[in-house]
Amino acid sequence: MSLGNGKRTANREKRRELEEQLSSLPEVLKDRKLIREEVKQRLVNGLQTQTLEYDSIFNYDKANLNKDFNLLSLLFHRMFFYRLNEKLSGLTCDHTLRLSNQILTQMKLGRGKINEVLEVFKKNGGHCDCEVLFNVESQLIGK
Ligand SMILES: [Zn+2]
Repeated sequence: MSLGNGKRTANREKRRELEEQLSSLPEVLKDRKLIREEVKQRLVNGLQTQTLEYDSIFNYDKANLNKDFNLLSLLFHRMFFYRLNEKLSGLTCDHTLRLSNQILTQMKLGRGKINEVLEVFKKNGGHCDCEVLFNVESQLIGK
């Protein structure tokens, strides 16, 4: 009998620990309007205040293999690739970096910095907007 009680207490203890772990995880934004607001804040002002579901697809170890990790991870967290995907969806890529350029301008990066980013894209196989998603973002996300 006393053994059973002890076991039950241990289970309750374990469950409490698990609940604490879960509640300490950052809450992911679900509301579409709030998501849009967070994306805009990060993109334009580089201000990150909330956690987005998109954040969880970033693969640090994989991304870290790239020589341009710092620049590329900054672009990821400022939602550059997310925005490019949004802009490109429903369009056919026109084989230029037109949309990438637009977004980098919206991010208030200077001309010199933009050129540096575009060079890094090209070096990584991103010669046009769709290739930036297929060949560059893919180096930062997933397994
Ligand atoms: Zn393309």
